[in-house]
Amino acid sequence: MKKCPRCRLVNPGSALRCDCGYDFASQSIKASYLDTSRIDVLEQAGALDKLSAASLRAKLEKGDRYVVFQFCISIIFITFKRRSRPYLIRPQDRRFTAGLPYTLVSLVCGWWGVPWGPIWTISTVVNNCRGGVDVTYEVLSGMVRGSR
Ligand SMILES: [Zn+2]
Repeated sequence: MKKCPRCRLVNPGSALRCDCGYDFASQSIKASYLDTSRIDVLEQAGALDKLSAASLRAKLEKGDRYVVFQFCISIIFITFKRRSRPYLIRPQDRRFTAGLPYTLVSLVCGWWGVPWGPIWTISTVVNNCRGGVDVTYEVLSGMVRGSR
């Protein structure tokens, strides 16, 4: 068993790469096998031609990811919980920093609703500090649909 230093998921001792994309051998972020196998599926379904599939694979292989952050805003009895637009995060980018504006907005505006304000503010802040939600596959599928 080995623990991924990036997402703390426990992987089998034989694992070469964690689901989050952390490569144990090179100790850097690569495409996760999960994402590349999803590209294979799109390609086999005919939604992606060979060239675009290869370029997407190369992009993920570099460690590029799409991530959304959450934010929430409360007005007395109403709390809005929203997602940011997808951000392209490169391996050298810090996801915590990219999500900081959304975290700060929630910390200022999120609390002031009953009863969901405090609950959503805390879950939003925790989620953003962990690096937001990985929507790489959703964005890729959307690009595929959008390009047709
Ligand atoms: Zn991991």
